[in-house]
Amino acid sequence: MTKRRKGRPPANGPVPLSREAFRDEVAGWVSTMKVEPKEVHVRPMSRKWGSCSTTGRVTFDAGLLEQPAEFRRQVIVHELLHLKVPNHGKLFRALLKAYLGTASVTIQKTHGAQAHVH
Ligand SMILES: [Zn+2]
Repeated sequence: MTKRRKGRPPANGPVPLSREAFRDEVAGWVSTMKVEPKEVHVRPMSRKWGSCSTTGRVTFDAGLLEQPAEFRRQVIVHELLHLKVPNHGKLFRALLKAYLGTASVTIQKTHGAQAHVH
């Protein structure tokens, strides 16, 4: 059933990721970014790819498991970054670029058609 492999990032591709592997990816960014989410949830979300509450709860759309690794990475970093910077201002965009090492997808795309709640 679900194989758990540690220490090796999944290859880019259309193969859906297991929730465990996704959580490992998130955990990797949590330590890289030195953030401390209180809770991380993965569940189907209809209108956005992720959200971050003011209480430190980060939620990701289960549909991300079927997205390309690069897109997933951007959404993960985006949401975790909200634990440091609650808005989409200059600092947020600068840090996002620093972590991703590349220009990121736009906020709109990251959160789907609608902006997420903050
Ligand atoms: Zn955001």
